[in-house]
Amino acid sequence: MTWHGIGIGDGIAVGPVRRMPVHAPSGDPGDDDPAEHLAAAVDAVAADLRRRAAAGTEAGRRIVEAAAAMARDPMLRAEIEDRVARGAEADVAVTAAVHAIAERLAAAGGSSADRVADLLDVGRRLVARLRGVSVPALPDSDEPFVLVADDLAPADAVLLDPARVLGLVCSRGGYTGHTAIIARSRGVPAVLGVGALDIRDGELVRVDAGSGTVTRDDGPPTAPRAIPHTGRAVLADGTSLPVLANAGGPDEVADAVGQGAEGVGLFRSELLWLEARTAPGRAEQAAAYVAVLRAARNRPVVIRTWDPSEDKPLRFLPPGVRGPRADEALLREQLAALADAQPAGDLHVMAPMVRDAAEAAWFARLARAAGLRSVGVVVELPSLAVETAQLAGVVDFVSIGTNDLTAQVLGVLRTRSRPADAGDPRVLRVVASAIAGAREAGLQVSVCGEAASDPRLAVLFAGMGATSLSLAPSARAGVHAALGRITAAEARRATEEALRF
Ligand code: PEP
Ligand code: MG
Repeated sequence: MTWHGIGIGDGIAVGPVRRMPVHAPSGDPGDDDPAEHLAAAVDAVAADLRRRAAAGTEAGRRIVEAAAAMARDPMLRAEIEDRVARGAEADVAVTAAVHAIAERLAAAGGSSADRVADLLDVGRRLVARLRGVSVPALPDSDEPFVLVADDLAPADAVLLDPARVLGLVCSRGGYTGHTAIIARSRGVPAVLGVGALDIRDGELVRVDAGSGTVTRDDGPPTAPRAIPHTGRAVLADGTSLPVLANAGGPDEVADAVGQGAEGVGLFRSELLWLEARTAPGRAEQAAAYVAVLRAARNRPVVIRTWDPSEDKPLRFLPPGVRGPRADEALLREQLAALADAQPAGDLHVMAPMVRDAAEAAWFARLARAAGLRSVGVVVELPSLAVETAQLAGVVDFVSIGTNDLTAQVLGVLRTRSRPADAGDPRVLRVVASAIAGAREAGLQVSVCGEAASDPRLAVLFAGMGATSLSLAPSARAGVHAALGRITAAEARRATEEALRF
């Protein structure tokens, strides 16, 4: 029997099921003054949530701290007190107030709706506290297990210990919910939103987060195990392809790495300084780059030097000029700051909008003179795309920027190009030849434009010989799944077909 849901992460876990106890607090609220009783319950729940938060990873901590703040929220308090003043028992008032606010949040949609599950959990905890019953805890077991729950609250998810909880399966929940974020950051393979689940305690299941499936394992008993996931996509023949993340701030880097990305393949440094009126100094920049590298926890980070454009201009650089030559003095200062930050992690630096192999050599000389060890260029102008074979010994790696390259090849404004344009055979031919040239030059070659997030195109880039992909973290699961369905030979055949006019 197999259930399908939304896979979080890309690991596989096999183990016996332990179900989360159902939360049905009963008990007597007692005769205390409802207002005092309520104040004590709010303090106790907020303190308990803060304790749980402290045990979490960075992502989990922030989410559960927000839940603690929710318990103390003056609007919630006012809604509860209003009902108590009208004669309701404190626990009944909490349930009614929580549901009234939850309805409003759900109706508002977007990020407000995302808070509904957290609010309901805060409500359940308050009610349990008011009735003097304990809140259900994660099940205890001597052997590692797969946790099965209707919906796991972030305050419980934050306590997931990957050594004990091999995998997580929930009837409800989705890709961007808080429980998903925490499971990812904990490295626990999870499948959420599987619907009604007819599995009993002790039954053996296989949780495959990559394919989003949960299978009852009727075969001979196997030892419980977690097959650790890596940031690599694994093709059907076992070939692996690193999948890195695109990011624009240290928090995004931390989240991406927490979700299992192998590193950061494109950090858009200009996004750090969009508000700046004057150019940030060397020390200020170095501190920002150190924060980025630390957030990646020793995984590789490719920081791209400033790339101002119409949609993300930098006020301290001349308008309308792209590429590394926009202001050489400022570029040198940025490279010096990056070199200062280099000891904090695994840093690689690349320049955007490089015109040709000669300009790549000029940039690489400046970067190496500043002390940078790994230097590359973004291939996003056709004039460089046709010269990648000449980059041997010039740079250490290249990355294909399909966003600008697509617009340039098709002669359309970038702001007007459509997502489907990147799959145009003329664009794909230029990308294929740029990748082939780079491989001939013995270079690592990544694809970091939005096209890498499209599962069909990601397969084609693998078939063209890209050595890694870098994409928005939200696209990871789809790309991993698509790559997992084909062999390297099939990807090459798909590429040949796609390049035919
Ligand atoms: C690109 O052009 O493909 C790219 C990755 O860079 P940006 O989108 O920042 O121009
Ligand atoms: Mg670009």
